Parts: sequence; structure tokens; C-alpha cells
Amino acid sequence: MKKGLLIIISGPSGVGKGTVRNYLMNDKSLNLAYSVSCTTRSPRQGEKEGVDYFYITKDEFIKRINENRFLEYTQYCGNYYGTLLDYVDSARNNGLNMIVEIETNGAKQVISKLSGDKELSIFITAPSFNELENRIRKRATETEEKIRERLEKAKEELKLAKLYDYVVVNTTPEECALQIKNIIDDKLSL
Ligand code: 5GP
Repeated sequence: MKKGLLIIISGPSGVGKGTVRNYLMNDKSLNLAYSVSCTTRSPRQGEKEGVDYFYITKDEFIKRINENRFLEYTQYCGNYYGTLLDYVDSARNNGLNMIVEIETNGAKQVISKLSGDKELSIFITAPSFNELENRIRKRATETEEKIRERLEKAKEELKLAKLYDYVVVNTTPEECALQIKNIIDDKLSL
């Protein structure tokens, strides 16, 4: 069986990565799987264990770091987030193209280990910083302090767009997902 692609999708908080990802996942022709990360943050309303994240304690997270179970991990706005190596490898070994949706610090770690032919990195950006702020505020799941922290972080993240194979502007999630679909199709046809 042909090993699946590793598709890193990154971009600042609030840019709409999750919505774009849902559009992509609905396209069965792409044969995608989504890497469910571990996090120490609490679930937001409506989020589900094992679907959105695996919600674990800080102690458990640190234990998994020491057991080398993460492809990458980071601390982001006071919480740990990490991608499970086994989770990604087993799906790819079963021929699925794996989407890993992570922030830039983690993406940098993965990009530095890439060999190229079975991997893609895509940075999603917003049409403007104001629009990004509007989107974060509209989500209304964070306190003002957390929103400001995420906006500061976003400024840093936007500077790292150049590290990725592709930068796609999320004007509407449908269009953005279509552009990413075309990028994935091109890679699959190589
Ligand atoms: P949120 O708390 O909004 O769900 O996620 C915060 C940020 O962490 C988002 O940019 C999200 O893409 C990123 N993220 C989610 N899972 C992981 C992961 O496993 N590793 C890294 N490095 N970032 C992650």
C-alpha cells in the first residue's frame, strides 16, 4: 500500500483552519484523516473527547513527552498541545493522507524533519489583521485577556508564513478549501 501524505496546515488562531479542514474532510476523493492532538486545555462548549482533542492532564502530557510519543509539541497560551506520532503513522501506513493542523512553533519542528516527497506544508492567513481580530472576537470563547494573548501570538505567527510550501488566504472557507484541495491533488499526481 502507498503511504499517505503528511499535510501540515498551520496559521494563526482564529483564521478559520477548523472550518477549512471540515470542508476538506468532506471531500472523500482526497482520502483524508485528521490527526486528533492532545491538549491540556479544557474543552470548549461542544467539543468532544477524541474528536476535537484528547484532553489530558499536564502530568500525563509530560509523561508522554518523556516517552517520545509526540511528533511535535508546544506550549501555546499557557497550555500544552501535541501531535501523537503513532496516530499519524498508523493512518499514513494505511494509505490515508493525514492532516496535521497545528500552530507555527510545532509546524517549524515538523518542517525541519521533512524529507519532501510525501509531505506538504500550507499556511492559512486572513485577508488582513483586522479581519483576523474580528474572527477571534466573533468566536467569543475566550476572555479579553486570552483574546489579546492570541492576537499577540498571531502577529508572531504571521511572520513565519515564509517557511511553508504554500500560503493560502482564507477569504471564504469554501474558496480556501478548494485551493488547498488543488494543492493536494497536484501533490498526489506526482
Ligand atoms: P485551540 O486552543 O484554539 O484549539 O488551539 C490553539 C492553537 O494550537 C491553534 O493554532 C491550533 O491549530 C494549535 N494546535 C492544535 N493542536 C496542536 C498540536 O498538536 N500541536 C501544535 N503545535 N499546535 C496545535
